[in-house]
Amino acid sequence: MELYNFNGVPAIKNVVLKPKAMPTMATVLYRKMHRRLIHAGKATVEEACRRIGIQLTRKNDDLCEGYIVGKKTDEIGKEAPIQGDEPLDFIRVDTVSHRVPSHLGYKYSIHIIDVASNYH
Ligand SMILES: [Zn+2]
Repeated sequence: MELYNFNGVPAIKNVVLKPKAMPTMATVLYRKMHRRLIHAGKATVEEACRRIGIQLTRKNDDLCEGYIVGKKTDEIGKEAPIQGDEPLDFIRVDTVSHRVPSHLGYKYSIHIIDVASNYH
């Protein structure tokens, strides 16, 4: 290494610059990223990881127990047989979540419907 004057600025001669280490692409299990991204869909997970340079592994492992359990709960409610055909014979009750809380700050409401009269 030798110092010299380059247009009034000290400079170094005979310096061999080593190439910087190339960043390595992280690999993460698809299932882990799916959970980290709050159970986002497969296309969303893949796009997010592509943008930030994460390589997904085991993409076919996209079975999500929480999703399946949630869907089964929905199916049970939809397929329940109607018992009776008079008002107040059969009443359905469901909770509704609201993305935007009400002016009082409530995020959930209860929906009650009489099946025979369709009264809410
Ligand atoms: Zn999920």
